[in-house]
Amino acid sequence: MADNFRLGVLLGDGVGPEIVPAAVQVLDSALAAVGAPAVEWVPLPVGAAAIDTHGSALPEITVETLDKLDGWLLGPHDSASYPAEHRALLNPSGFLRKHFDLFANIRPAKAFDGTPALRPGLDLVVVRENTEGFYADRSTYRGTGEFMPTADVAIAMGIFTRPAIERIARQAFELAVQRRKRLTIVHKANVLRTTTGFFLEICREIAAEYPDVAVDDFHIDAMTVHLVRHGADFDVLVTENMFGDILSDLTGELAGSLGIAPSINASHERAMAQAAHGSAPDIAGRGLANPTAMISSGAMLLDWLGNQPAAELIDRGLRAAVAGGVRTADLGGTAGTAEFTAAVVESINGLA
Ligand code: ATP
Repeated sequence: MADNFRLGVLLGDGVGPEIVPAAVQVLDSALAAVGAPAVEWVPLPVGAAAIDTHGSALPEITVETLDKLDGWLLGPHDSASYPAEHRALLNPSGFLRKHFDLFANIRPAKAFDGTPALRPGLDLVVVRENTEGFYADRSTYRGTGEFMPTADVAIAMGIFTRPAIERIARQAFELAVQRRKRLTIVHKANVLRTTTGFFLEICREIAAEYPDVAVDDFHIDAMTVHLVRHGADFDVLVTENMFGDILSDLTGELAGSLGIAPSINASHERAMAQAAHGSAPDIAGRGLANPTAMISSGAMLLDWLGNQPAAELIDRGLRAAVAGGVRTADLGGTAGTAEFTAAVVESINGLA
């Protein structure tokens, strides 16, 4: 890892101001423990707080500054709660994914030993195409792919392009090569033949470049059943935007809790760490949130930046803290965010 990385810190809404600082604290301790240079953290406004201070959920100063940074941590946003004029705009993470062409949303789901996971042996990664597909709000150059020609008719379009499918397929295969060499393509080619059939066909073409990877494919509906029944058999799943969003909530929960489901959104030049879960308004402000997903997302960012030792240490620290019995409520424990974070830092210092 090069010296003096500069990473943005965007707290976001709901539980964001609780879990993002926890991630910063854990990343700092892991970097110190492996003897890496400290990160320079750059706080930037986003979300409801930014609407109050800057009149925008994603102020220009934030986007301009991110452009000059090596990566960033983005807390969840609760855009449904924004005033109507802000709700009508692309939400902050959708905007950032589109603006920086963060085409690969990598969402691992791995159960923690000793926790009440629905699928205890689950260890897979959902590779979600992040720039087009059925999320029509971000598939167009100008305007949105959702529209109402009359007051009684709403239409959404999906977009599937060869270059976008090829690059996400390659990303997924590269990951499968480093893991258990199994890749599953998720689609709905029996009904959405032209769009998801195209996705399937191109992923199959790219498969020819990776003869060592075993490839199969499932319809999205059947996939949910296979994951619930025998999720531990799967390794890497590649799919379009909306299917990936839905599937990764399922895989996160099967692994124990949405609160442990991390992600990064990456291009070849940049990466944004972002928990797979939302802003959890039902528990926000009470110090109850599980910071694991945000911490693990930060570890994925360090890994992406080339600091595997710090990333691995964070993963071991998280697992040691949970194995030692310190758990947040979503994993059946009583620890709050601060207590759990302190236990992870202690584990990291003990393991280093
Ligand atoms: P979005 O549409 O942004 O995904 P949502 O409201 O559909 O948001 P979440 O905010 O992810 O979904 O919340 C779903 C459930 O998971 C809620 O009950 C929430 O409390 C729980 N949850 C989400 N994140 C965490 C966390 N970090 N720790 C504990 N529970 C969480």
